[in-house]
Amino acid sequence: MNLRFDCARCRVKRCLEGRMESLPENCPMRLLPDLASLLAKKYLEEENGRLFRAAASVEREGYLKWPRLREILELARRLGVRRVGIAFCIGLSEEAEMVSKVFEEWGFQTVSVCCKCGAVDKAEAGLGREVRFREDFDPACNPILQAELLNRAETELNVLLGLCVGHDALFYKYSKAPVTTLAAKDRVTGHNPLAALHTAYLRRLLSPHRSGEASPQAP
Ligand code: SF4
Repeated sequence: MNLRFDCARCRVKRCLEGRMESLPENCPMRLLPDLASLLAKKYLEEENGRLFRAAASVEREGYLKWPRLREILELARRLGVRRVGIAFCIGLSEEAEMVSKVFEEWGFQTVSVCCKCGAVDKAEAGLGREVRFREDFDPACNPILQAELLNRAETELNVLLGLCVGHDALFYKYSKAPVTTLAAKDRVTGHNPLAALHTAYLRRLLSPHRSGEASPQAP
């Protein structure tokens, strides 16, 4: 079965109303009708349920009231976490220090690891000259090491602060503790990635070839 779900373009959003009639053709609820009930049982398993219930409780209490940092503090509190990991971009070191201080003021232990930890040169990590910024030592970001160090420090919840696109994906992949994202790094928009959708830049994104935005290697 070629599953091309397309909730992004759905105009009816029947799932929001709990209605199962007149579902769009490629609606997941039409194509795989039993899967939602089957997987709902996963939230009843203790490992998932704790996180799921804590998330719901934070959402209910803090919606439109708390900034994301407060929401993460509340999540950690509701999870009964003692030790929080912070995986951060070295360019956000000041913010990492502030975040660490806030968590400690709230009674948590923090363990933080910066992206350049390990001091591995890009060449050692298999990266070529075309992605170097410097000819001499040019440290690679090291999200796998960040995750592994936090695994060894036995953090119970990891907070991601501004890792690069793709490095964040590797961190999520290797972290044993659940990961929540405090900030998605976006230096062009003040770390507000959705600004690209709400500014004139959108026109460039929607016609990438005409505007010269698409790189020659892009598919
Ligand atoms: S689940 Fe179905 S009804 Fe809900 S947004 Fe997706 S396509 Fe629309």
